[in-house]
Amino acid sequence: MAPVTLAPSPITPTVDFDRDGVQHGFLRLPYSRDDSAWGSVMIPITVVRNGSGPTALLTGANHGDEYEGAVALFDLSQTLTADRVAGRVIIVPAMNYPAFQAGTRTSPIDKGNLNRSFPGRPDGTVTQKIADYFTRELLPLADLVMDIHSGGRTLDFVPFAAAHILPDKDQEARCFAAVAAFAAPYSMRMLEIDAVGMYDTAAEEQGKTFVTTELGGGGTGRAETIAIAKRGVRNVLHHAGILTGDQPSDAQAAEASRWLDMPSADCFRFAEDSGLIEACVDLGQPVRKGDLLARIHPIGRTGLAPSEYRAALDGILAARHFPGLVKAGDCIAVVGTVES
Ligand SMILES: [Zn+2]
Repeated sequence: MAPVTLAPSPITPTVDFDRDGVQHGFLRLPYSRDDSAWGSVMIPITVVRNGSGPTALLTGANHGDEYEGAVALFDLSQTLTADRVAGRVIIVPAMNYPAFQAGTRTSPIDKGNLNRSFPGRPDGTVTQKIADYFTRELLPLADLVMDIHSGGRTLDFVPFAAAHILPDKDQEARCFAAVAAFAAPYSMRMLEIDAVGMYDTAAEEQGKTFVTTELGGGGTGRAETIAIAKRGVRNVLHHAGILTGDQPSDAQAAEASRWLDMPSADCFRFAEDSGLIEACVDLGQPVRKGDLLARIHPIGRTGLAPSEYRAALDGILAARHFPGLVKAGDCIAVVGTVES
């Protein structure tokens, strides 16, 4: 089969990735619309470069309603100086910028879920064009890729950094070493329920050292989880030798991270009923196989028994549905097993 030749990306960066120093600019994506005939989506970007060396690509708000990464990276963009860097740091605090502006998981322009849009298309929707630019222009520049997620409006997590089991064991070891360096309260060997189209997969397929996170959720950021994000980013940059000098005083591992695993799809519990959820366990609490995780009460009338959802394995409650009402099909709980 002849290789498919893709059109160039329509995105124009206003920064020069090869120039030393600190540059603040945009990824400008043409987007013609009713209120701006020759308008563009302007995705903020910072490049901090100091000589040759490895490149870190740091992203937040891949999903627009997840805030720890955006806060940590907007903060890093205005505090990181070139003299502290050996190599290059590329910072995109709000990767799916239209979704971030709207405070929604997906883009209000095309309903695109950026983390299901990879590798993307240069001639596709706005979201597909963002994915394509990362796949073909930014990921190839990077050695280390960190994408900071949280639960968004509908999920809440114990704070963890994570990587995936990979076929290339050297790459897998690099990824888990970076997860350990992040030093979140929990570290996860993550199983994806739907890995097709993920940024993670695109980065891993290019051989990058890839770290992701889930830090809280509920459509907001908390002081605790924002501090974990800010500390973790600096820890990983320091681990990679890109952030030089002594580790910043706020950047040490606050506590020993606990390793969690998601050994099978039994970790996930999905609602088979709609209604009012009664949490029976809180995040981080230990559970045994058979323990009640949640009950769902029918809300159409009184006098009906709730349905019960139980743990399928031993572990801790690592994630839960956030809003009080659930629909059939919602992920209501994730149990992570504790590594001994
Ligand atoms: Zn996310």
